[in-house]
Formats: sequence, C-alpha cells, structure tokens
Amino acid sequence: MQAPHCSTCRPARKPNGACFPKRYTIRAAAAASATALIVIACGADGSVDSSDKPHHTAEGFRNNYPTGPRGSFRKWQQERREKGLPKIPEGGYRFEVLKPDVAWLQANRTEPALTWIGHATFLLQIGGLDILTDAHLTDRASPLAFAGPKRVVPPALRLDELPYIDAVVISHNHYDHLDRPTVKRLARQAGGSPRFFVPLGLKGWFNGRGIGDVTELDWWEQAQYKGARFTLVPVQHWSARSLWDRDKTLWGGWVIEQPDFRFFFAGDTGYSQDFKDIGRRFGSFDLAALPIGAYEPRWFMSIMHVNPQEAVQIHRDLNARHSVAMHWGTFILTDEPLDEPPVKLAEARKAAGVSADEFFLMKHGEMRRLAPLLRRADAAAPAERPVTLP
Ligand SMILES: [Zn+2]
Repeated sequence: MQAPHCSTCRPARKPNGACFPKRYTIRAAAAASATALIVIACGADGSVDSSDKPHHTAEGFRNNYPTGPRGSFRKWQQERREKGLPKIPEGGYRFEVLKPDVAWLQANRTEPALTWIGHATFLLQIGGLDILTDAHLTDRASPLAFAGPKRVVPPALRLDELPYIDAVVISHNHYDHLDRPTVKRLARQAGGSPRFFVPLGLKGWFNGRGIGDVTELDWWEQAQYKGARFTLVPVQHWSARSLWDRDKTLWGGWVIEQPDFRFFFAGDTGYSQDFKDIGRRFGSFDLAALPIGAYEPRWFMSIMHVNPQEAVQIHRDLNARHSVAMHWGTFILTDEPLDEPPVKLAEARKAAGVSADEFFLMKHGEMRRLAPLLRRADAAAPAERPVTLP
C-alpha cells in the first residue's frame, strides 16, 4: 500500500511508492537519476544475442574479466550526503580554457593535430580525416535539458565551429559519452553525415533518430573507412540509458590506424587485463587517450573508472609511446575535486618514471600538432592482428 503524497513530492514518487524527502524536488530527483545512469543502473530484462562469445549473454553483454559485485548506489549517495561531497570551492572551479584557431582547424587537411574539446571529446585530424571521439558539445550529460550533470567548463568548440567531420567514434551509451543533440546536429552537417562507429547494439538507437551512416562492431572487429582502420576493443565498463537497459548494448575502446599512426581511445573504463591484451594484439600505440577522472570513492567507482595511477599502468600495458589525459575537469560526476586528477597524475607519473611529455595533459581547447608522434617507418609491426570484417 502506498503512503499518500506529501506536498513537496506530489508528482514525483519513488518506484517503491515512498515519498521523496522534504526539499527533494523533481529537479533534484532528475539530477540524481541522471547521475545514476552515468555511474550505476538497475537490472536488465529481455534478450539480445544468442552468440557463444563469452562476452555475449542472454541479457546483453558482460566484461571479459569478472569485477566482483557492484557497490550500492544508495550507500554512495548516503555517504555523499553525510560527508557533504562533492565539495566545490567557493566561487567555483576556474580552469584555463584556450580558444582554438577555428579557421585553421577548418582549413587543416594535412597537418596531424589533436584538439581537446572537453571531457572525452577530442577532434583528431589525421591522414586528411577529421574524427571526433565521444562527441559531446552541449551543456548537460543527461536525458533532460534542465537537470543532470552540467558542464563546469563549456565545450572549447561550438558545433558550428567544427570542420567537416568525417567520422565519430562512440565508446558507449552513457550520457556523458553519447549526446543525442550533438550527434543529431552532426548528422545534419553541411556536406553530409559523418560515419558513426558504434559498439554492437547501438546502431538501432542511431537509426531510430534518422541517422543511417553507422558502422556497428563487436570487440576486435574492424572496418576500413577513407583510408583509416577502426577497431573496437574490449574495456571494462557497462552501458545504460535508462533503468531498464543495463548492458544491452556493448561498450569499448577504439583503435584508429593510419599507415604512420596508431591511436587508442579508451572511452570509459575500469582497470582490467584487457589493456595487456590490446597491447599484445597491436604491439604498440603512438598515442593513447586515457581517462584520469571520476574515480572517487574507490569502493564504488573502481570497477568502472580508473584513477590516474591505473591510467599510467594502462599506458604501460598498451606500450603507448605517448598518452593524453581525458575525462576530467569538465563534469562533476564523482566525489574527488574536479582539479585533483592532474595532481594525482603527476604523482603517478613520478612513481612510475613516466615523464610529463610521455603522458601529457592538455588544457581545454588546446591543440597539439602530432607530427612528432608519427611512427617511424622501421617501427615493428604488431605481433597479432584482429580479424578484418568483409
Ligand atoms: Zn560510462
């Protein structure tokens, strides 16, 4: 039997029928729900696949390496309330944001370059292609326009400032990595839609929004496009865009290869043996984009988000010549201060003997020329190659 609504929560009732506490408004409930969908979600139902691949299940997908039980989202939320986390400095965070040279980026078709737009969104210009990773150029990481995690730092480029985008790689469907308004707008760009590369199960989401230029891959599958090779690789994470679709679509990192450049984009991940597997399969990487933020509290976050120390370990596991930090300083998703990851990264680099040039940070909006990172012609070929799709 349900208790009567209180005056503060009349339209919003918890699934178990209980009223939300006083002052717990619809807006706050929506914000908590959006956060929950980025960091945790409830069970799953239905069936997706009957393949015998170990990461395919009757309900959807699972990680390669067992992670143990998930922590309690409720317990985390209670702990946050009790400790008053996350603590936000008086006057808010101040990050230096550089304004990219938009005209140069739009004209550039020859100079390899990387621009950090914020969070997990990079503009990679390589081999004459303009590629976006986990394109998110709007204000919130949320299903709602008025609630949910809001950007602390605006995107360094507006959608109308982007050059023509040839391809977009999407790591998974969480709201801070797959942003509906951004991808819809990109699909309507002048000159035609980019090709969207997505993990298994996500093509239908794009098709349902009128976006048809989509290549959907399973782990280790590859596709060629405009002279580049795109491979989806396993990382340790999960997926959900509602409380009812947990792990029904796949997640992963992306390897993008040109003849003289091999790039790894991790998306969102906890630490696992997957990175040693990827390093073995590809031999080495010229540049890896690795997450360093959204890691506290460890008892809850470690299975889904690495900390800077683990990011440095991944850098090693991949045999990356260089890595660049991402997934920090943009959205407040977890408990650590938003400006802490670079400090912890510096400590982790020092402990591991990795230089600030080898695993570098970028400012929001910063552009780096990649010519010094291109592979020498005599670099060793990978020992083992994934299967190329017909
Ligand atoms: Zn995620």
